[in-house]
Amino acid sequence: MQAQTNIYDVIVVGAGASGLVCALELARGGKKVLVLEKEITCGRKILVSGNGECNFTNRQVAPDKYYGDQDFVKAALVKFSYQDALNYFTDLGLLYREEKGRFFTYTSKASSLATCLTCALKEAGAQLILKTEVSKITQDNKTKIFKVSSKQGQNYFAKNIVLACGSLAYAQVGGTKAGYTLAQSLGHTIKPLSPALCSINLQEKSALTRLAGLKVQAMASLKENGKLIAQEEGEVLFNNQGVSGNNIFSLSRNAKKGQILELNLFNQFTKEEFSSFIDARAKKYSHRKLKDFFAGILADTLANLMIDFLGFRKNLLICDLNSQNFARIKEVLQAWPFRVEGLRPFEQACAAKGGVDTREVQKGTFCSFKNPNVYITGELLDIDGRCGGFNLHFAWSSAICAAKTLLGKK
Ligand SMILES: Cc1cc2nc3c(=O)[nH]c(=O)nc-3n(C[C@H](O)[C@H](O)[C@H](O)COP(=O)(O)OP(=O)(O)OC[C@H]3O[C@@H](n4cnc5c(N)ncnc54)[C@H](O)[C@@H]3O)c2cc1C
Repeated sequence: MQAQTNIYDVIVVGAGASGLVCALELARGGKKVLVLEKEITCGRKILVSGNGECNFTNRQVAPDKYYGDQDFVKAALVKFSYQDALNYFTDLGLLYREEKGRFFTYTSKASSLATCLTCALKEAGAQLILKTEVSKITQDNKTKIFKVSSKQGQNYFAKNIVLACGSLAYAQVGGTKAGYTLAQSLGHTIKPLSPALCSINLQEKSALTRLAGLKVQAMASLKENGKLIAQEEGEVLFNNQGVSGNNIFSLSRNAKKGQILELNLFNQFTKEEFSSFIDARAKKYSHRKLKDFFAGILADTLANLMIDFLGFRKNLLICDLNSQNFARIKEVLQAWPFRVEGLRPFEQACAAKGGVDTREVQKGTFCSFKNPNVYITGELLDIDGRCGGFNLHFAWSSAICAAKTLLGKK
């Protein structure tokens, strides 16, 4: 490797959530930092996050909101809590608002947070180069200096590397496999990857055609051979292919073809309470036709679909139903079964399950055990959070931890 004059203390690969925060802290701490970003703008996933409103942290941030090694997550969260995140972004000039424990930008524009970050980065003196995709990283055996080569043919040199390349989810805003390839070239192992936080496709396409666009509150349970795999309560949105919504997103990492997704549309009642509720209604509305019996408690489309699903006639009178018929109605409304067809592809997933094996990265410092001058942050690691601001929070906290460690280095 030829002698280099322009050697950075740190090159951060990727100007996304974790890369921007890490670079900002390093520059504020006096390090000579270069951020390389393959896209034409930075923070593209920040910009689309939270439906464009950026759900950047959550009052409930805790290790149990994450999948992967929870001790690994804990070591980061103790150093950067949700309150630290609020203080951090307030200090960058961001106003925020809270919705059921989830924090969003006050302006409802994710660009507000991204711009606060990029302004601060510039003011702190970090150098950012866009449209530069890092394709290779090598290290000089003698000097230990890294040579960072881009697809565009440029070379950059640094004493330390932070890999903040994110996951391959949502390629249309920068999701890529590149980070895994770079991590592998530096000696790391990649745990198998699959989409997380995405819609679940269901097999009942003709039912979905009728339900598409409908929103219901439900307890959604994933079951395999009758065994409960996972469940989440909240809003369920039907579409032509299946279901989405925050709780469905959180379930998706456990969803597999052939499982049953059961919807309890009346989870506020126990089985017994619901049975009495339906019995009382049946008494009161015994003269009504079946199709009108559900008025006020079930959307029309759902009521009609259920009547067809159970094979009843819509004009049947309530007083003509027998106890077995009622038992079926009660059962379906508290455990409506749909068959899982699969998940949406990575292009439509908000996060990835799998990534760099966290056993190869030091807890709380994010320093690689494979190379003491390499740090790995954010979603590139085998950590994924539930829906609700947890993934961005992990990105910020991992970045802060890595920056603190690097600033403590001579
Ligand atoms: C549609 C959508 C909505 C989301 N909403 C939320 C939400 O509301 N709340 C929440 O907590 N999380 C949300 N997430 C997840 C969250 O955005 C990510 O977990 C987070 O951005 C990960 O941060 P990161 O720094 O690891 O990666 P990223 O933010 O993805 O940044 C990685 C950066 O590295 C760049 N890069 C990659 N490889 C290279 C290379 N070889 N050379 C140069 N640059 C490279 C990429 O272009 C990218 O800019 C959402 C994700 C999506 C897709």
